[in-house]
Amino acid sequence: MELFIEVVPAEGVMHVRVKYLKDEVLTNHFYLNRDAEISYFSCDGQETPHESSNEEHPMFSGYTAQKVLAPNLRDCLELAYSLRLSGETGCCPYVREKIAPEFTFIRWETFCYPMFFEDWDSYRNTAFTACNIQLIVPKEYDVVASKKERDTAIGDSKKVVTYSHQDKGSNVFDCSVASYKKVKFSFGSVCFLSDLGAEKVQMVNDTMLKAISYMNEHFGVRHIEPNLVFAAIPDGYGSFVCPHNNVVFVEEATFSRAENLRAIVHEYIHLGWNPKVADSVQRARFFDEAFTSYFEVRVMAALFGGESFSAESKAEHAIDAIRRGEYKLVPIAEYGLHGYGGLSYTIGALCLHELCLLLGEPVFDNVTKAFLEKYKDVPVDFDLFCREYIGLSGKDNRRKLSRFFDDWIYTCSGISEYINAE
Ligand SMILES: [Zn+2]
Repeated sequence: MELFIEVVPAEGVMHVRVKYLKDEVLTNHFYLNRDAEISYFSCDGQETPHESSNEEHPMFSGYTAQKVLAPNLRDCLELAYSLRLSGETGCCPYVREKIAPEFTFIRWETFCYPMFFEDWDSYRNTAFTACNIQLIVPKEYDVVASKKERDTAIGDSKKVVTYSHQDKGSNVFDCSVASYKKVKFSFGSVCFLSDLGAEKVQMVNDTMLKAISYMNEHFGVRHIEPNLVFAAIPDGYGSFVCPHNNVVFVEEATFSRAENLRAIVHEYIHLGWNPKVADSVQRARFFDEAFTSYFEVRVMAALFGGESFSAESKAEHAIDAIRRGEYKLVPIAEYGLHGYGGLSYTIGALCLHELCLLLGEPVFDNVTKAFLEKYKDVPVDFDLFCREYIGLSGKDNRRKLSRFFDDWIYTCSGISEYINAE
């Protein structure tokens, strides 16, 4: 697969050329952003007319994309199109993606390039196996991408960045294009959208170093490669991590106050302090998000005080939502089954907070350190988690811990006390 994208921020447009080999065209049609204007369509080297219509994508209700028929191929499919993102055609309702001089985001959620899938299974199975991606931007722009950069060539007016990758299972290419101000810190580099000023840069540095040293001390020492890149994106886009290339996209407001660095602290914890999780329990999000959210609260409370950051206040909205019946009352071990992984951020974190109260912080921290070390690369599930904590916490704690896990992991007794307390 070849994908060449030229972004012209000043004109609000991107010009794309893409080529797929026969084996990479998995369905007899593909979806593309509905604003894309196809100027060239060719099968096996022959330009041919194409058929397309705007249709709702089966995975996203209310989201309309251009459905383009791909004829039978002997060899390859090639097309060229121009895309002016109007801000209304991304399938994430919270983002209004545009190509603009100050910032451009290219990602699959906006269907900036052809998508050959109809459901989450085919989404997961669609992988770029070997591909060549090239991004062309004006010389003064920078690109931060989810793929490893192979080469950058700078010409008189343009910069050409080439990416290639073979990591199977990854079918997305995300990148931001902006004129970034890059600052190197000991924990990684941060690409700021605007000039932050020396004082705030110092604040970012001091806060992150304090946070990292707290995590090392309480949850086990981790040496995280300093090749991390935190790239600012405009507010409203939602922070997220691209683990393959150690890129974290964070909203710009994150850097405005020390307390807002919570978002970076959170992503940083994901990189070093999550146990590995068995596939079958991943949907519960407990072992990534409950752990991370709980640690995040601990770190932030240590830095800024427990009045501003606590597991109880973090869980308030979720508890209200359960009271209102927006979620059925189900045990944490069944979150995956009900698609309630989102509750792990709040109720899951609250469970770990209660566990810490029960054991006392020094014991909890020691047990957690040992647990995270042991399960850094070995997949864990709920039974194993409970057994390990019971085994590691010492004889005296055995009975109260098994009771605790019954109440908080396997039944709803623990959380019910919060729900019934007004
Ligand atoms: Zn997270």
